[in-house]
Amino acid sequence: MSRIPLIAGNWKMNNTRKETLDFLSSFLPKAENLSVEIVICPPFTSLNTAAEKLEGTKVKLGAQNMHWEENGAFTGEVSPLMLKEIPCDYVIIGHSERRQYFAETDETVNNKIKSAIEHNLTPIVCVGETLAQREEGITLDFVMGQVEKALKDVAAEDAKKIVFAYEPIWAIGTGKTASASDAQEVIGAIRNKIEELYDKDVADVVRILYGGSVKPENIKELMAEDDIDGALVGGASLKPDSFYAICSFNI
Ligand code: PEP
Repeated sequence: MSRIPLIAGNWKMNNTRKETLDFLSSFLPKAENLSVEIVICPPFTSLNTAAEKLEGTKVKLGAQNMHWEENGAFTGEVSPLMLKEIPCDYVIIGHSERRQYFAETDETVNNKIKSAIEHNLTPIVCVGETLAQREEGITLDFVMGQVEKALKDVAAEDAKKIVFAYEPIWAIGTGKTASASDAQEVIGAIRNKIEELYDKDVADVVRILYGGSVKPENIKELMAEDDIDGALVGGASLKPDSFYAICSFNI
């Protein structure tokens, strides 16, 4: 089964509209020769600016979060309809920073996934363990629990549209990357879990990314693993040169 590699850049709370334009002016001309699927996820305030600049290019646009309702009294939130109108193609859901600092739970993650799919946005669903959980030896149990709860009441045809990102929390922004074989172990287990919850047909289609201090120096090794279909990149996606070096790992 061949799955198209996906490299997504999560800019977090970085890049004003001007900085977004500067990044894209430098990155887009180089990106034309890339064969992987590329997504950039700027902050909400830069989505519109990025969308205009990305029109007619191969690079897709994603948001970093959304509410599951279409509208209503949810001060400070952004809805799937608003993202679709930009237009965004992707939305990151359940990033560990949202779980840790903004009270995101497995239940809200599940609501958001179902809403994103209903609105034709591809969810990039983040899962991953803390350092304490890894040291306790409960990584697989914990992450498989997150996957199962994320997929509650999601039909097989919809599950196929989801992208998962395995992001060990101890590797995010720390410079510590999981070894390619550790990442493969968890990502392979996620694929087996999807097969157990649905069937092989679904498990073969779902793309699963690795995230956590991905850089030009380690992307090749990660992508050589059977079940790793791409990367969710934080820090190294902020500079056009390093993001391009990651996106061109197979050239
Ligand atoms: C992330 O925030 O999704 C991430 C993986 O960050 P970094 O690449 O900086 O570790």
